[in-house]
Amino acid sequence: KIRVRYAPSPTGHLHIGNARTALFNYLFARHNKGTFVLRIEDTDTKRNIADGERSQMENLHWLGIDWDEGPDKPGEYGPYRQSERKGIYQPLIQELLDKDLAYESFMTEDELNEQREAQKARGEAPRYEYEYEGMTKEEIKAKQDEARAKGLKPVVRIRVPKNVVYEWDDIVKGHVSFNSDTIGGDFVIQKRDGMPTYNFAVVVDDHMMKITHVLRGDDHVANTPKQLAVYQAFGWEAPVFGHMSLIINTETGKKLSKRDESVLQFIEQYRSLGYLPEAMFNFITLLGWSPVGESEIFSQKDFIKMFDPKRLSRSPAAFDGKKLEWVNNQYVKAADNDELSDSAIKQLIKAGKIPENPDFKTIAWARHLVDLYKRQMSYTAQLADMAEIFFTEPQKLDEDCMNELSDESAAVVLNEFSKRIKELPLFDAVEIQKTIRGIQKDTGVKGRKLYMPIRIATTREMHGPELAPSIELLGKKRVLEHLNKTLE
Ligand code: GLU
Repeated sequence: KIRVRYAPSPTGHLHIGNARTALFNYLFARHNKGTFVLRIEDTDTKRNIADGERSQMENLHWLGIDWDEGPDKPGEYGPYRQSERKGIYQPLIQELLDKDLAYESFMTEDELNEQREAQKARGEAPRYEYEYEGMTKEEIKAKQDEARAKGLKPVVRIRVPKNVVYEWDDIVKGHVSFNSDTIGGDFVIQKRDGMPTYNFAVVVDDHMMKITHVLRGDDHVANTPKQLAVYQAFGWEAPVFGHMSLIINTETGKKLSKRDESVLQFIEQYRSLGYLPEAMFNFITLLGWSPVGESEIFSQKDFIKMFDPKRLSRSPAAFDGKKLEWVNNQYVKAADNDELSDSAIKQLIKAGKIPENPDFKTIAWARHLVDLYKRQMSYTAQLADMAEIFFTEPQKLDEDCMNELSDESAAVVLNEFSKRIKELPLFDAVEIQKTIRGIQKDTGVKGRKLYMPIRIATTREMHGPELAPSIELLGKKRVLEHLNKTLE
């Protein structure tokens, strides 16, 4: 039975790259009717942020991802927070110490830095050089006791065998191998503060939680040989690994990095602009994974049905913000009006376009506005700007607009329009459309020559959403003001 996990460190909010890892594991589990585990890797206490765990979980839920076991969903293999699993790691570290597969290391940070500097000066790759080289057991013990007496605290390092090969068949990358001599020497499995390191805890947890497949980012490839060393020290079988290609920002051509502030990359940022969760889910699934065929818009159900990790791409995934807008627009166009209006109204309030507690009439009006702009809008935060004409005093007409109005027929059309709509008993799109058609019949002016002057005079722009409903939403008073200003 397939068991996979998403194992965030609560050092920040949910990032597009992490969300992708979560999502692929989720799809893989659901496709195979397996189990999806959420594990919080919070052993790096200095880097954890206060809100990290809650915000990760909240944003996963928002995306439509749920899990079967996790800190909030007790299961057979808990606890699901590494900080609560110290009692599990401790005896296992002791076991390796007892078998002399690991040892205490008292080298200080300064000494380690010095070692690295010297290696650098010799043009060598940084690595830990065994501090007890050539010593007997007794000599080692004496040295350790002396350090302890000085009050020094040890880390625990695992012995990495010389010149062996760590290899695995990666679901994404194919066969991967590392010689043990290239991974930086005996590495730390327990820090000075007693916490296990990531490379140790992750192995213990994946083993104990019976994880069958580890799907994670490419940035962890170099960790995998170290983790294999831990699996081997215990004689445990390793899970199947798959390392997903990194994500490149198409705008900069560089790896999508949390430090690059020019691109929005936290799920929360998109949420607050009014992006829709289904659209984000859809877009992220296509980062480095592709279904058979050309289609790009799928529901979560479709993805679950189709998901096959063999179709994860080896080459970098392209993060294209424009494409995300396009995908979101597909969902906006199809969205339920209530959901969309709620989101749009929030955005209009945020932009100061409508009052904080809009009355019933304003809400009804805003809902019409959303309807009007639905096709053009990529996400609801755009509405305030797109629909500017509904919120500001009419601008002076630009030259192109003035040219459109210079034709003699334009004056005829506008005078007629102004006269006729004043008399309309009901100022709605149907009546307005009828009025325009009436003008066509009576004056013989049609097509662009008929519509463009009316559009420009009423909306002050040459382009925009459907004309008659726009005029209705502007309201009679405003439209007449605009017309008078144009006819002056
Ligand atoms: N806590 C690790 C991270 O956030 C998880 C790595 C893994 O999946 O093994 O990157």
